[in-house]
Amino acid sequence: MGGRLRLLVALAVGLAIVGWFLGFWSSLAAWLAAFGRFLAASTEVPNWLLGLFALCAVIVAGWLGASLRPERAPPRRAPIRSQEAFFNIRWRWSYDESGAVRDLAPHCLRCDHRLVLQDLDHRHPVGRYECRCESCGAVACEIDCPVDEFERRVLSRIHQQGG
Ligand SMILES: [Zn+2]
Repeated sequence: MGGRLRLLVALAVGLAIVGWFLGFWSSLAAWLAAFGRFLAASTEVPNWLLGLFALCAVIVAGWLGASLRPERAPPRRAPIRSQEAFFNIRWRWSYDESGAVRDLAPHCLRCDHRLVLQDLDHRHPVGRYECRCESCGAVACEIDCPVDEFERRVLSRIHQQGG
């Protein structure tokens, strides 16, 4: 048993020595050296190039990540357009960027026709008149003040409602 192992070791050592004498090891060393030079050469040049690629990859990944990230919606101050009934009139309006009410417009509650509010003048000597819908003839409301004053009341109601 042991003798067989010793024989194998002796054979291996003998082959190695014979191989060394035949120049096998030197050629192997030369081949390894050439391979090493090849590796060194192939990694020497692309080092900065690899760094550049890595940098580009990081930038692109960051850019993609930023573009994929859901955009934070600006705090919803108010709906873009809104409507509500005040003083028996359906008021429609919109908000501008600062949240101020724009394009406040009165509409008939019955037929949704755009109402025309008139300023009090000599035609309304009693200082109070019924605003009638020109389309369906329904009495929308009674106006007892100038139109801009009336609209200010509506705006204050809108602001009260909006909190
Ligand atoms: Zn109407």
